[in-house]
Amino acid sequence: MGHVTVIKRVPLDFVYSLGVVWEGYINPYLPQRCPVCEGTGYNLETKEVNDSFYSWCNDITQDEMQALMVAGRPNHFDIKSDTTVDEINKWHQQEVKFSTDYDVIDRSILVKARAKRLCVYGICVSCNKGCTNGDSQKAKKWQKQGPPIGEGYQLWEFVDGEGSPFTPVFTNTKMVIDWYFEKWGIKIDIPLD
Ligand SMILES: [Zn+2]
Repeated sequence: MGHVTVIKRVPLDFVYSLGVVWEGYINPYLPQRCPVCEGTGYNLETKEVNDSFYSWCNDITQDEMQALMVAGRPNHFDIKSDTTVDEINKWHQQEVKFSTDYDVIDRSILVKARAKRLCVYGICVSCNKGCTNGDSQKAKKWQKQGPPIGEGYQLWEFVDGEGSPFTPVFTNTKMVIDWYFEKWGIKIDIPLD
C-alpha cells in the first residue's frame, strides 16, 4: 500500500499525538510486542546482557565459543578444530576485513551462554516469547475505525494503511498546505480523504 499523504476532516478540537498511529488503526487482537522485555523474550538480567551485546561480542569467552560450536555455528567463520577464542575475537575486531559479524542466531546463542554463566539466564515471565498471544478469531473480525469526523482539516500520513496525524487541526485546506510549505518547503496539492 505504501506511503500516502491526505487531508482528513476531523473535529476542530481533535487532539492526538502527532506522528503516532491512530489507535483505531491498530488491531488489538493481533500479537503485540511485549512491553516488559521489549520483544526480546528474556528476563530483565538476560535482556541487559542482550542490550550490551555490542560492547562484548568482540571479546567472547571460551564457553561462549563452545556454545557456538555445539550449535553448529562455526561453519559461519573460518574456524578449524585448533582455532582459539583469542583468534576468533581478533577476527571480529577486524570485522570489516573478514566480514564475519555475528548474526541474530549467533547473538542469541552467545547471550544465552553468557547469561547462563552469570547465573541470570531466564525468559520473560510476562510473555515467555517476546509477544502477547493475541486472539486470531477476534483479530479476523476486527475492523479499522478512523478518527472522528468534524469541521477541521488535518494532514495525515499513511504507511501501509496505518495513518498518523502530522499537523495541527486547521479550519481550511489552504492552511494545511501553507503549514506544509513552511515546514518542508514543498508546495503540494494534498487530496482530501
Ligand atoms: Zn516479555
